[in-house]
Amino acid sequence: MRCPDAVRPGTPRNPPERPWTECSRPGAGGLLELAKARSAFPITPVKSQTDYLWFDVPKRRGYLRITDQVETLVARSGVQEGLCLVNAMHITASVYINDAEDGLLHDYDVWLEQLAPHAPTDQYHHNRTGEDNADAHLKRQIMGREVVVAITKGKLDLGPWEQIFYGEFDGRRRKRVLVKIIGE
Ligand code: ZN
Repeated sequence: MRCPDAVRPGTPRNPPERPWTECSRPGAGGLLELAKARSAFPITPVKSQTDYLWFDVPKRRGYLRITDQVETLVARSGVQEGLCLVNAMHITASVYINDAEDGLLHDYDVWLEQLAPHAPTDQYHHNRTGEDNADAHLKRQIMGREVVVAITKGKLDLGPWEQIFYGEFDGRRRKRVLVKIIGE
């Protein structure tokens, strides 16, 4: 339901944006309805679990399949129905979903290097800071920061060829991936 436009006398037609809570906060009647609903349908507390996976790719770029590691964390959480967020915590690495096929991984690498070649490093303004990883920031932008996967009956609900990957574009150091699982 759309938030009703509360235009009061003397106020402009387009009042400034209000916090969402002003429209969605239940009044006395709303709280009563909420209490009734809770007694009719007991609420199962939502579980949550937070983990960090560490990766240290020995080369500048690499593509690691991490589906099994994420699936293990889902199993440990005990969540049967919920969501699993997996995101790279570094701005020169990605988490994405696609096919675990060696030819495709090669094609990604060639394609990304064509779009944002590492060298010459002085072609990038970012590298004037003294870094040499401008291309890695751009590659990460294209391959994405995170994925969210549904959990159904206690398992990652992936399509038949979907696999979760960690994409590294400025490796040779330890980097973290967050795995946050919520559900019941
Ligand atoms: Zn940088």
